[in-house]
Amino acid sequence: MASKNVALVAHDNKKKELVAWAQKHKDHLAPLTIWGTGTTGRLIEEGLNRPVTRLLSGPLGGDQQIGAKIAEGAIDLLIFFWDPLEPQPHDPDIKALLRIAALYNVPVACNKASADFMIMSPLLHNDYTADAPDFSAYANRSTPAD
Ligand code: PGA
Repeated sequence: MASKNVALVAHDNKKKELVAWAQKHKDHLAPLTIWGTGTTGRLIEEGLNRPVTRLLSGPLGGDQQIGAKIAEGAIDLLIFFWDPLEPQPHDPDIKALLRIAALYNVPVACNKASADFMIMSPLLHNDYTADAPDFSAYANRSTPAD
């Protein structure tokens, strides 16, 4: 069974919480390949003492990179502790990441409780594969230009 890929992203006020969560679930995370935005990825790497595939920092395009990886089918789970109390300069990218995860049927956890449920799900440890959405009707639709 191929190892599942989890992307971890946290806004600055949520980074401590995500690192503590990851440490608490170190064993659950052990069989997964971890991806992260730049700063979150570095902190998780240091906190877990294991490698993380680090992309750019979120505000510098990292959220968009995670979104692109989701569209390519490379990410199975997204754990994204976004900050509901602070506006972010890259708000459109955050929206885009959440949209693309919804579009591609990727499970998303936006806080500790949902991340707990996700990481302890028995589905993580069997050969469950989320249904890949079929976009053929959309791709083949006729447009006013046809
Ligand atoms: P960061 O990005 O991990 O590089 O801080 C996270 C974000 O703000 O989206």
